[in-house]
Amino acid sequence: MSGVPRALFVHAHPDDESLWTGGTLARHTRRGGDADLVTCTWDRGTRRHAELVVAARELGLPREPIMLGYADSFVPESAPGATAFVRAPFDEQVTALVDHIRRLRPHVIVTYDAYGMYGHPDHIHANRLSCAAADAAALPPYCPELGEPWQVSTMYFITIPETTVNALRPHLTADAHLPIVGTPTAALDLVVDVDDCTGRKVRAILAHRTEMARSASMKQFAGLPRDPQRLFLRTEAYLRRDLVPGGVDLL
Ligand SMILES: [Zn+2]
Repeated sequence: MSGVPRALFVHAHPDDESLWTGGTLARHTRRGGDADLVTCTWDRGTRRHAELVVAARELGLPREPIMLGYADSFVPESAPGATAFVRAPFDEQVTALVDHIRRLRPHVIVTYDAYGMYGHPDHIHANRLSCAAADAAALPPYCPELGEPWQVSTMYFITIPETTVNALRPHLTADAHLPIVGTPTAALDLVVDVDDCTGRKVRAILAHRTEMARSASMKQFAGLPRDPQRLFLRTEAYLRRDLVPGGVDLL
């Protein structure tokens, strides 16, 4: 591969793309990188889908997000009549994502770590789905009707650094969405300082108006003192797994 890699971001909910990977996405698209976003829950036609479209544009995504259309595990109205993301047939989900992977041909897939960063079942499920689909997409016998096999080179798994958890913990109440422990510094494969992109990242986060108004975690985050808030916003961290020797660098 030469030049800037194509990337596919697989997120469970609208707002995760901005909160956890907004700076990475903004920097990647700023240098001419192609990128797509798959959002597993919330359907087209919902208010949060409309907000997601605005956020994606802010981060420089060249196309609208791809909605898998499943329901958020905790919010049935996110996709009226649809099955919850974690309860839908897994094979059906893998096939749907393989279809997108073979069409978009990403060199890199970005999704959550195996703990879903802080244990959210939808995040954990997105990790499993992405890993299974990346493997299946490369195999010629798997659903040949979906097109030519495509080998993803590298998976990046979003994780929360232990240092960030420690800096935020004194300022957050117990019910905040944060892990008890984060990932130790020595275990991180990529830490991106996105300070030069936090303007776009913040505008993308704020595009999720419904969530900003509803979520206790979001309100708590908005009320953080400046230093821990800035540390959280400027640091995006990943574990890396190469699926081919050498892999491909995202940034
Ligand atoms: Zn989420």
